[in-house]
Amino acid sequence: MSHDPSETPEPVPATVNRRDLLRLTLRGTTGLALAGLVDVPAMRAATQQLKLSNISEFTTSCNFCSCGCGMVAAVRDGKLISLEGDYDHVVNRGSLCAKGMSMFPTHASPERLTTPRYRAAGSDRWVDITWDDALDRVAKKIKALRDDTWIATERVGDADVATNRSDAWAFMGGAQNTNEECYLFQKAARLLGTVIVEHQARL
Ligand code: SF4
Repeated sequence: MSHDPSETPEPVPATVNRRDLLRLTLRGTTGLALAGLVDVPAMRAATQQLKLSNISEFTTSCNFCSCGCGMVAAVRDGKLISLEGDYDHVVNRGSLCAKGMSMFPTHASPERLTTPRYRAAGSDRWVDITWDDALDRVAKKIKALRDDTWIATERVGDADVATNRSDAWAFMGGAQNTNEECYLFQKAARLLGTVIVEHQARL
């Protein structure tokens, strides 16, 4: 937008709506730039520097589906301040679908649950519990189910063959799990005695 400084200044309307305010501000700023009062490149550089100051960037991947689109997370003072598509990522080249784009708003939403919740049998409400409490409950349930359904041996021909497994429960991984996490999941699943290990993308 250009503005001739010799033009008569536009009168300010009696009531200024948002569109008027934006138009007047842009005209005013352009006029100042033309009059040499504002160094626009310096102002842009300073704004950019301010935007990027004290920021650490990390690459990560979207965890909503199995495509594994790459993202760049910007963190300031330990707080995630933006999440964008990674232009250098071979899968998505910077683009994200609507689900991926909603990841940051989801993260920042005050509605987001940040603690485990528990609804007791017969209750009509959920209550917050600690992570330790949640882990204890899950571990106890796995142990009880494993003990109840343990298959120590199976008859094969005339022999009892050791199997040492339970078929009553399973492990399920997700698209967001890294190779290293998948390796650990597999280890945990086998050590606990289940052979049923699935991935969310295959369901
Ligand atoms: S951005 Fe969309 S397509 Fe990519 S991993 Fe996330 S949900 Fe899947």
